[in-house]
Amino acid sequence: MRLSRYFLPTLKETPAEAQIVSHRLMLRAGLVRQHAAGIYTWLPLGFAVLKRIEQIVREEQNRAGAQELLMPTIQSADLWRESGRYDDYGKEMLRITDRHERDLLYGPTAEEVITDVFRSNVRSYKDLPKILYHIQWKFRDEVRPRFGIMRGREFLMKDAYSFDLDTAAARRSYNQMFVSYLRTFDRLGLKAIPLRADTGPIGGDLSHEFIVLADTGESEVHCHRSLLEMSVPEGVDYEGDLQPVVDAWTGLYAAADEMHDAAQEATLGDALVTARGIEVGHIFHFGTKYSAPMGAAVAGPDGEPVTVVMGSYGIGVSRLVGAIIEASHDDNGIIWPESVAPFHVGLVNLKVSDAATSAACESLYEGLGRERVLYDDRDERAGAKFADMDLIGLPWQLIVGPKGVAKGMVELKNRATGEREDISTESALARLA
Ligand code: ATP
Ligand code: MG
Ligand code: MG
Ligand code: MG
Repeated sequence: MRLSRYFLPTLKETPAEAQIVSHRLMLRAGLVRQHAAGIYTWLPLGFAVLKRIEQIVREEQNRAGAQELLMPTIQSADLWRESGRYDDYGKEMLRITDRHERDLLYGPTAEEVITDVFRSNVRSYKDLPKILYHIQWKFRDEVRPRFGIMRGREFLMKDAYSFDLDTAAARRSYNQMFVSYLRTFDRLGLKAIPLRADTGPIGGDLSHEFIVLADTGESEVHCHRSLLEMSVPEGVDYEGDLQPVVDAWTGLYAAADEMHDAAQEATLGDALVTARGIEVGHIFHFGTKYSAPMGAAVAGPDGEPVTVVMGSYGIGVSRLVGAIIEASHDDNGIIWPESVAPFHVGLVNLKVSDAATSAACESLYEGLGRERVLYDDRDERAGAKFADMDLIGLPWQLIVGPKGVAKGMVELKNRATGEREDISTESALARLA
């Protein structure tokens, strides 16, 4: 992409309304613009990151055996009356009436919709287990939308739902999602800690929030220090027994605020970490909470109907953009992990009026692949170009000027470490391939 043509409205000034660094940088780097309170337009650069995150989430869901579908954003209120949640949900739910005076709502989550799809289409225990998910926009009329997309009203969520014949099988589905969350956040360059979370009236230990440590986070973290050092399993066999992996991660003390236990914490001494963090995911086993009132049952092995056992598994896809920036930035701007970077390389032409420099840039632009490169071909001061490149945080910068070009050399800069190296154009092509 040529920067001269790209829609990238960066800001030099820090927007006054933004209280946390990720929000400031998302506005300054031209990733999003607010449309109304908690409702955003994703500009091309931000949208590119969002799509890359979404794709990693998708790949790890699929790998764990979940199947993607797409449910609507607008849902029927009647389904929520069946589950009993229509009145309970309160003001966070955006309620809509259509021209025929029918009650609709903008989905804040999709347990009712998926349970309805399941009950109308699945008949036998032989069709179980099933994990179904979608990546869809949600709306919650948050009292205090803030921190940009971090607590939006409209936000993108991946939500998966598991259906099993009994609790033991549901535990296996839960474990598959648990491990896939470890893998997903790791690929996103994040250290996300699973905390024991409240399961409400159902009880049990089957709910975990995945939290990324950040001082600006709105969640409280209580955990054993060793959890910060744990390494995420690679090459997982999702059909095998995942319980040992889950046990390793849940064996150490780690609790969300409402689950924390002062007496247990007192025994941990220096090993206790209390910190703040951002909730990026939440998994939940809820048994027959929806399947029982909504009549989602299958014929069991003996022909008798069995009410299915369910769980749900959310990831805040749009919130992750902010969480990644909170975890990865410096005074000059964003530092994207390679896995989510909107472009791999920023190519900086220091003198567009110089034919040899521009020719070298064009051949690098082609050679590296136009869709992987953001080519700054604007007629701007070098200082402004460097500042913009650092702000938008692409992993690599390739700086090309007349002096170097005369010797066949370019400068390669690593955004994360700041290291610079003079290398030949050929080795630049090889290194960034
Ligand atoms: P929070 O505690 O931050 O309000 P939640 O517990 O209400 O989140 P869940 O119902 O568990 O959220 O939804 C699953 C995931 O969706 C959350 O872990 C979070 O990453 C994301 N999410 C929830 N609310 C928002 C929001 N208002 N804006 C952006 N992402 C959100
Ligand atoms: Mg909430
Ligand atoms: Mg929460
Ligand atoms: Mg939650």
